[in-house]
Amino acid sequence: MSDDTIFHKIIRREIPATIVYEDEYLIAFRDIAPQAPVHVLFVPKVAVPTLNDLQPSQAEVLGRLAIAAADYAKREGFAEDGYRIVMNCNGDAGQTVFQIHLHLLAGAPLGRFGT
Ligand code: ADP
Repeated sequence: MSDDTIFHKIIRREIPATIVYEDEYLIAFRDIAPQAPVHVLFVPKVAVPTLNDLQPSQAEVLGRLAIAAADYAKREGFAEDGYRIVMNCNGDAGQTVFQIHLHLLAGAPLGRFGT
């Protein structure tokens, strides 16, 4: 079931998470295995397994995630220092949870990425 990922369980409060933001469209919580001093995941409530599944009519879903991430950076005071947002799609990118999510990474100079 596409709405039975670990992130949907967090949305439904079936498993715990440190939630830092929530509205009717999305939820944001701290990554359980942080890769930077700040590592927060922004997850839409509508079920979308990968970026490949996002429909043109759902363009707003991605926009809301990005704006929520930027708002969080501004609120927490690191927007000017900088941050990175990342979305992994499928195996080669290392996607392990099949519900789209933006990683927000910040809090220190970040290394280059790629292969
Ligand atoms: P990857 O695991 O390679 O980062 P994804 O882009 O699918 O691939 O990211 C899934 C993220 O979800 C990982 O950063 C992982 O640490 C995080 N995660 C998994 N389970 C939980 C959880 N219960 N609470 C918070 N974060 C989680």
